[in-house]
Amino acid sequence: MAAPKAAVVGAGVIGLSTALCIVETCPSCSVTVLSDQFSPNTTSDVAAGMLIPHTCPGTPIHVQKKWFKETFSYLFGISNSAEASEAGIHLISGWQIFKNTPKEELPFWSDVVLGFRSMSEAELQKFPQHQFGQAFTTLKCDCPPYLLWLEKRLKATGVQMHTRKVADLWELHSEYDVVVNCAGIGAHQLVRDENLFPVRGQVLKVHAPWVKNFIRDGDGSTYIYPGIHRVTLGGTREKDNWSLSPDPGTTKDIFDRCCSIEPSLWGAQDIKVKVGLRPSRQSVRLQREVLSQGGAKLLVVHNYGHGAGGFSMHRGTAKETAHLVGECIAALQGSSSRAKL
Ligand code: FAD
Repeated sequence: MAAPKAAVVGAGVIGLSTALCIVETCPSCSVTVLSDQFSPNTTSDVAAGMLIPHTCPGTPIHVQKKWFKETFSYLFGISNSAEASEAGIHLISGWQIFKNTPKEELPFWSDVVLGFRSMSEAELQKFPQHQFGQAFTTLKCDCPPYLLWLEKRLKATGVQMHTRKVADLWELHSEYDVVVNCAGIGAHQLVRDENLFPVRGQVLKVHAPWVKNFIRDGDGSTYIYPGIHRVTLGGTREKDNWSLSPDPGTTKDIFDRCCSIEPSLWGAQDIKVKVGLRPSRQSVRLQREVLSQGGAKLLVVHNYGHGAGGFSMHRGTAKETAHLVGECIAALQGSSSRAKL
């Protein structure tokens, strides 16, 4: 059989990292990324890129933890290398604060991040409206630098990238042996997945270089995430809202909420507003599927629906998807050698 051909649909953090894992695990495979948008125009470009998992109700906790751990280890390696600056990956320390002590004092990821502990009374004095908190060090991906770094690595290994809107996965069956669906919220239309819904998020990207620590209100509604150049202030979680237009009332509300927990932000400058649609479902769709029409078949692997945690688990889900692609290729090679006998 000639070199197997794989197409990855989507160029957000999931598509690019999946393409990279396929190249790493199946070097004989020719990989092409097809996407209607590339950075800086994807949902992944809007994200804060913090490694703090959100629990997916339909995915077992041990699986979520595995994906998070693999992602954390991978990015921790980059953060300790000379690539860190170009890849936009850095360690960041800070606080998750609560108005009331949460039911679950130890989240499932507490032993993956570094130095997880309860905040001291002295630290809590910084947040007079909160009575409990957790301090830890985690990682942050600055976007778009991380996406551009992934694209650069893919191009260096010979991966082709084409701007193309795919209306139906079947249209790729005559060109590719395996198709990997990493279309994010686009999968709602592409594969008509009614279980996939948007959770709209509006954030502000501001200039406030004196803010060095992250602060996250425990319910996830208000957060301050410093990046290398700008600080992300959030946010909103609006289920089933498809609007990509910034709402001025929401901008003011986000700014007021963030200033109430970090008053120095009143001095922030150059406020830019961004909106993205989190591709949400009960669980990430990570599975194989065989499409067939009139006796012809197309092997598909889905990897979408990461909701609010695409950055936190991208490497783990990309590795698992690449493994499934490897199984598809082995099956194709097996059937082609049987056909020659
Ligand atoms: P996208 O980035 O949307 O990529 C999908 C790609 O598919 C795009 O390139 C698109 O053009 C392409 N595509 C879609 N349909 C088609 C088609 N038919 N044909 C061709 N191409 C197609 N996660 C975290 O882990 N940490 C955070 O701190 C964090 N903060 C966030 C803050 C906000 C405000 C938002 C909105 C999200 C945040 N997230 C965060 C979630 C994270 O952004 C998503 O989980 C992640 O970006 C999903 O990546 P993706 O590659 O699946 O989707």
